[in-house]
Amino acid sequence: MVLKAKRPKKRLFIELLSGSYSFLLIVSWVVWYIAYPGLYNINGYLPCIFAVVLCSVLFLMGFGILNMVFGILGWPLPALFKRQTYALLNGLFYVVLFSGRLLMISRRSIEESFVAVSNAIVRNRHLKVPPDRLLVVTPHCLQLATCPHKITRDPKNCKRCGGCNIGDLVNMSEEMGFHFFVVTGGTLARQMVRKIRPKAVVAVACERDLTSGIQDVYPIPSIGVMNIRPNGPCYNTKVDIEEFRKAIEEIIDLPEKGESEQKKEN
Ligand code: SF4
Repeated sequence: MVLKAKRPKKRLFIELLSGSYSFLLIVSWVVWYIAYPGLYNINGYLPCIFAVVLCSVLFLMGFGILNMVFGILGWPLPALFKRQTYALLNGLFYVVLFSGRLLMISRRSIEESFVAVSNAIVRNRHLKVPPDRLLVVTPHCLQLATCPHKITRDPKNCKRCGGCNIGDLVNMSEEMGFHFFVVTGGTLARQMVRKIRPKAVVAVACERDLTSGIQDVYPIPSIGVMNIRPNGPCYNTKVDIEEFRKAIEEIIDLPEKGESEQKKEN
């Protein structure tokens, strides 16, 4: 049976973000209105200067959110704003989380939606990185719990018996040449990032680990592939291999076939 990860809705994150922004507009106006008499008493120009500063910040935020929507729709973003949109997305995550909590929306749904939006923004950058600068990390729970082989640090110890998806990922890493590690937690993942110094990261994990991982490795762009949990969390998890391969193929810059054969001959 082919297991598929569920498709999270990007709309939730954008709706919460737009709601928070609207609220911020009202709060900013109230702050300006209350501050007006005091500022005017100090200097007649101060309310105007304060309004210009507030409007500039709010305009930039609004523009960033609009870019996010364009990015999700797949519309081309101006090169100048691609990085800034990704930065704003990461910066505003906790604002959205707070708004979601007020509306009693589960953290899990927000994190799933955040990962989907983040993936869309990274994909919109159309990055291509060489295989040796692409790092792939997966959690330890992807390995079959009864497997006796030690694959953390060296996944090549996997005997590729087909008992879990680790063997598929090791095969793919050898075929395409990217770095692949199975990590037991965030500390080991960060160590790998420091060691490899990747230009992009692809991670397989649950929505919670993907959210914290994306923010941990920022500004390195990362794509999150949601794991599948037929046995509950953190136990014998799976990954949709087709979805994973698609994520890798989108970002990896593989040499043309003829080119690689020529290299081998040389
Ligand atoms: S595929 Fe590898 S890691 Fe998974 S059970 Fe088999 S030997 Fe163990």
